Amino acid sequence: MIYLDHNATTPIDARVLQEICQVEQSIWGNPSSSHVFGQKARSILDQTKREIASFFSVFPEEVFFTSCATEGLNTILRSTKGHIITSSLEHEAVFQTAKALEREGVPLTFLDPERGEGAIAPHLVWDAIREDTQMIALMGANNETGALTDIEEIAHIAQKKNIPFLVDGVALLGNGYFDIPEGVSAICFSGHKIHAPKGIGVMIVRKGHQFSPLITGGSQQSGKRGGTLSVANVVGLKTALHLLDAKPTRVTQLRNYLEKSLCAQLDDISVNFTGDRVGNVTNITFRNIGGETLVIALDQSGVAVSHGAACSSGAQEPSRVLLNMGLGREVANSSIRFSLSRMTTQEEIDKAVLIIARVVNHLRSLLKLF
Ligand code: PLP
Repeated sequence: MIYLDHNATTPIDARVLQEICQVEQSIWGNPSSSHVFGQKARSILDQTKREIASFFSVFPEEVFFTSCATEGLNTILRSTKGHIITSSLEHEAVFQTAKALEREGVPLTFLDPERGEGAIAPHLVWDAIREDTQMIALMGANNETGALTDIEEIAHIAQKKNIPFLVDGVALLGNGYFDIPEGVSAICFSGHKIHAPKGIGVMIVRKGHQFSPLITGGSQQSGKRGGTLSVANVVGLKTALHLLDAKPTRVTQLRNYLEKSLCAQLDDISVNFTGDRVGNVTNITFRNIGGETLVIALDQSGVAVSHGAACSSGAQEPSRVLLNMGLGREVANSSIRFSLSRMTTQEEIDKAVLIIARVVNHLRSLLKLF
C-alpha cells in the first residue's frame, strides 16, 4: 500500500518511537510530584521544553503543550471576545471554532481569497480591520493545496494595528525552515503531522498575549493548561522537530515529479494551485470522476489519498476550500489531495502514477458505457 496522505497524519519515525519507549519505561513519574520520580520527570520535561523553545527561537515560558493543534487553536480563539478576522479557507479546527463563537455572539469576518488564489492576501486583512477587532486568525499554509499565507506581512499589519495574530502553523511545519515573525501572538503545531505521535501538540504564545485556559484543573503549565502531560510524548515531539529537514527539497521534487508524470499520462487533469506553496502537497482535478469514488478505487488498488481534509472526508461534499477559491462545484468534486513526507520514496511515486493512471482510465471507460 502506498501512503500519500501525510497531511492527514504521518507514521511515527522509528527514532521517535524508540525515544518515547525509553522515556516511558524509565521516566514515568508525574512531573508534578515532589518525590524523586516526579523530580526526574520534571527535569526532563523542563529540559525538553527549553530545547523546543530554542528550536522555535522563543522563550520556554512561551511554550505550552497540548493534546493536538485543535486544542491550542481553540484555547486562543475562545479567549477572544471581540471581532475576529479569519477566512473561509481555514481548517475545521479554526473554521468550526469560529462558527461556534459566532453563534455565541462573537462578531466574525470570514475572508474569501481573491479568485483563484489559495490564501488570503494581506490587503484583504487590512481592509477588514475594525475598531473592535481583537484577533486575526489565519493558517500559515493550507493543508489541502499547500498555498502559503504571507504571514510576515500580515504580522506586520497586526503589529501596526496592535491586534493579536493567531497562526495555524500545522501545514507549515516540516516544510522548510521558517521564523515566527514578530507580530504573531500565538502559533499552534501538531505532533502527528511531523512523525511524532498523536496526542501531542505545541502552542506558542508570545509574552504579553493574554489567554484563558481551555482546560482548567491543576496548576500544570503555569495554570494555563491543566492535566498531566506525557513526558514521553513531549520528548518524542522534540526529537521529531530535530529530525525535520531545514530544506526539504527532495519532497518538493517528488511532488513536482508526481504532478508532471500524472499530467503526462492523463488527459483532462489539472493541478488546482501552483502559486506560492509548501512542497509536500498537491491538489489535482480528474475531470468527470467523483473524488470520493476515486479515493475508494485507489484505496482498493493500493494508493491511499484523500478527497480534501481528513476531518471532512467521507462527507461526499466537495471541498469547502476549493469552492471558496472559486473552483466550480464539479471541479472541486473531482479533486484529490496527494500529500507526501520525507518517508515517501521515488519508487512509491512511480508505482502510484501507474496505478492512478490505470484507475482513472478504467473509471472513465466505465462512464462511456452509460
Ligand atoms: N490545522 C491544519 C491546517 C490541519 O491540517 C490540521 C489537521 O489536519 C489541524 C489544524 C488540526 O490538527 P490536530 O489534528 O493536531 O488537531
